[in-house]
Amino acid sequence: DTSISVDEIRKEFPVLHQQVNGKPLIYFDNAATSQTPECVTNALIHYYQNDNANIHRGIHTLAERATTAFEETRKAAQRFINAGEAEEIIFTKGTTEGINLVAQAYGRKFLKAGDEIIISGMEHHSNIVPWQLLCEQTGANLKVIPVQPSGEILLEDFDRLLTDKTKLVSVVYISNSLGTVNPVAEIIAKAHAAGAVTMVDGAQAAPHHQIDVQALDCDFLAFSGHKMYGPTGVGVLYGKRALLERMDPYQGGGEMIREVTFEKTTYNDIPYKFEAGTPNIADVVAFKAAIEFIEGIGFEFLHQQEMALLQRGKERLYSIDGFTPIGTAAHKTSVISFLIDGVHPFDLGMLLDARGIAVRTGHHCTQPLMDHFQIEGTVRASFAVYNTVEEIDTFAEALSEIVKKFRS
Ligand code: PMP
Repeated sequence: DTSISVDEIRKEFPVLHQQVNGKPLIYFDNAATSQTPECVTNALIHYYQNDNANIHRGIHTLAERATTAFEETRKAAQRFINAGEAEEIIFTKGTTEGINLVAQAYGRKFLKAGDEIIISGMEHHSNIVPWQLLCEQTGANLKVIPVQPSGEILLEDFDRLLTDKTKLVSVVYISNSLGTVNPVAEIIAKAHAAGAVTMVDGAQAAPHHQIDVQALDCDFLAFSGHKMYGPTGVGVLYGKRALLERMDPYQGGGEMIREVTFEKTTYNDIPYKFEAGTPNIADVVAFKAAIEFIEGIGFEFLHQQEMALLQRGKERLYSIDGFTPIGTAAHKTSVISFLIDGVHPFDLGMLLDARGIAVRTGHHCTQPLMDHFQIEGTVRASFAVYNTVEEIDTFAEALSEIVKKFRS
């Protein structure tokens, strides 16, 4: 849609229109958490001011309204990732919980000693530690696809690790630290051919990339609301019906049961079997507005805008004295991770903040990846659809000045 403009989009984000340390805020920490447009905060307020009630069991009007709104988000999430059925959408508090759910409810039931799980060397801790816990519990072993200097993984390396012992493959769609877009469709096809079940960490893909779980044919995919213009505390786990039905419950409590006696309890159907207790109703309800916000802009515009920002970032930043990009994959999203010779990332982060510029510094919850590059961490600037080329220019000028001061 040519009528969309970044200026118009920015108007929907009150948080962007503020001064930080006396300068206009430039928010480049979107890979950690993106900002929320007014349609999302309005949905939250509307819910609490009109419909707030517990869901599913109430017969009164507010309970019905809350239930309907909650289930409407499930349908929106289904549409958003092209899942075959709404029952394949499970609400979680985020990607982390989605991966832990699969590790425990699937992995603990179906993996045994000697089985193997493959992940990549660029995983977020949330796609490492749940599998390590599972390995400790079952005696399974974790294998890691190595990362190339460019920040990519090679399918040949995956082929070498994939054997008839491989029972589960879980990879990140888009790296949060580097922006690398991984060949997940190929990995999934190969894993399936070897008889393994597949999981995709979609945390960074959801805001940048049209996800189609049926085209990917992944068995599980997890993502978080707060990285895609939505509220914190809500995420989605997608799972294929046949697998979800064979899995054990993750947590026990209300909502996930059919019948409870002290002798034996039977479980509810999916997705409720995996949604024990009162969920985060308000944030789930408001999450629908975030999905619609992205759909309203469309991934075509989003992609175009983010690639323009990435391109400008490369042009303006790469020439700065001592600048070293970390992660130079040909296929990457709007993330620039870097180091400056002789200046600690934390110092850069603090000096940029003093100029109103928010970036992330550190290991970005990918310590093994940082170890691989033999660095402690990076400075990461990650862009969203509301960022502008002018902001990139201001950022580049600020960074040049900071570096010059360090050198003098
Ligand atoms: N995976 C990736 C690639 C991420 O970027 C993140 C968030 N930084 C997570 C998983 C974890 O997401 P959450 O903290 O929302 O559970």
